[in-house]
Amino acid sequence: MPRIVDLMIERATILTMDASLTIIENGMICVDGDTIVHVGPMPYPADKATIDNNVLPEFRARKTIDAAHGLVLPGLINGHTHAAMTLFRGLADDLPLMDWLNHYIFPVETNMDREFVFTGARLACAEMILSGTTTFCDMYLFENETAKAASQSGVRVLVGEVLFDFPSPNYGPIEKGFEYTQNLIDAWQGDPLVSIAVEPHALYTCSPDLLQKANEIAIQNSVPLAIHVAETQFELETIQSRYGKKPFEHMESLGILGPHIIADHCVYLDDSEIDRIRNHGVRVITNPESNMKLASGVPRIPDFLERGIVVGLGTDGCASNNNLDMFSEMDSLSKLHKIHRMDPTVMNAVAVVKSATIDSARALGLSDRIGSIENGKRADIIIVDMNKPHLTPMYNPYSHLVYAVSGSDVSHSLINGKLVMENRKLLTMDLDDIMTHACLQADRVRKWTAK
Ligand SMILES: [Zn+2]
Repeated sequence: MPRIVDLMIERATILTMDASLTIIENGMICVDGDTIVHVGPMPYPADKATIDNNVLPEFRARKTIDAAHGLVLPGLINGHTHAAMTLFRGLADDLPLMDWLNHYIFPVETNMDREFVFTGARLACAEMILSGTTTFCDMYLFENETAKAASQSGVRVLVGEVLFDFPSPNYGPIEKGFEYTQNLIDAWQGDPLVSIAVEPHALYTCSPDLLQKANEIAIQNSVPLAIHVAETQFELETIQSRYGKKPFEHMESLGILGPHIIADHCVYLDDSEIDRIRNHGVRVITNPESNMKLASGVPRIPDFLERGIVVGLGTDGCASNNNLDMFSEMDSLSKLHKIHRMDPTVMNAVAVVKSATIDSARALGLSDRIGSIENGKRADIIIVDMNKPHLTPMYNPYSHLVYAVSGSDVSHSLINGKLVMENRKLLTMDLDDIMTHACLQADRVRKWTAK
């Protein structure tokens, strides 16, 4: 008797992103509940359709997706973003950092509320599903709203409330911020989609006391600690003049370096700092488009990889990118380092696809569950429709994914075993409603930023 499963993806070219980077031509994936229960070749040749009779020796599915023109891969993992900043997209660009912050970002952030963040995060979830992202790591204010938006949209998320020395429009004084973080951890414990991280903003906005207390909460609850580190020259100089130490040297002296640390950006690291993060098992998320747009600098990613440091990929927020399309981010990751090194061989397509899938999963501490298509892992899977002029012919799937595919080529998305997009139609959310609410929030932003 064949085993009855919930879903079968048939006749697919499957990029598993497993340890051997196995590619299966004319393959099939069976999903039952939230889990991948079988990955392997089809028992029939590619030209023999099995959709009509749906008869396979071992499996029979309640629902079947024919992916004959599809490239199937693990859902992309956006390792660092600020989802609600979708509502800031295009509000102000091309400005010096302090002008941008003081006249646009801060006036909005001091006025914003739960509804604003929920609306922005829902908009972000729609954009992410539509462009092939199935998991994101978020840092912002009112993060319970981001968790709710992701949960309702069916998107996997690692969220943390941003902590800093000054009063927050959400929780007020920092003591309440620690409480809010602990409440998030308790409230979402065991949730199938939502995980919580502790997220102090950065070394220049967080006192040593704050950082140590945040780290204690992370260690006690066995959750990661995500933080912006060494993003700009200004930050490097500030930390050196304030503490007489380099950024990671400062963290090391506070006793807060370890494999639970997710360090976003890491642009200004010399050899000693690179050795330091490698020795402590710190994981890195790189955000090339944000670093370029804000003219922050170029991190030494090829050196990190050479030394075995785990590097995942993120878009950062929509105010500094200005989209959440991880395909576009992969393209930029590769090309930024090629031009910077004047070497077309660095950051090849395979390394880049790894950074957006399994390495982002490793960086976020989620690789036991996601990041590759393997038996026993959660079914976070996307299908890219390759039956397009700009993707025909295909010699090398990694090359197309990095240099030719864009987010709008993704046709299907499955997260935790649940189909959230089918033939580009969102199944978990009402797009018109989301965009209407986004426009209403934009009216508030215009008032807050009016001169
Ligand atoms: Zn950021």
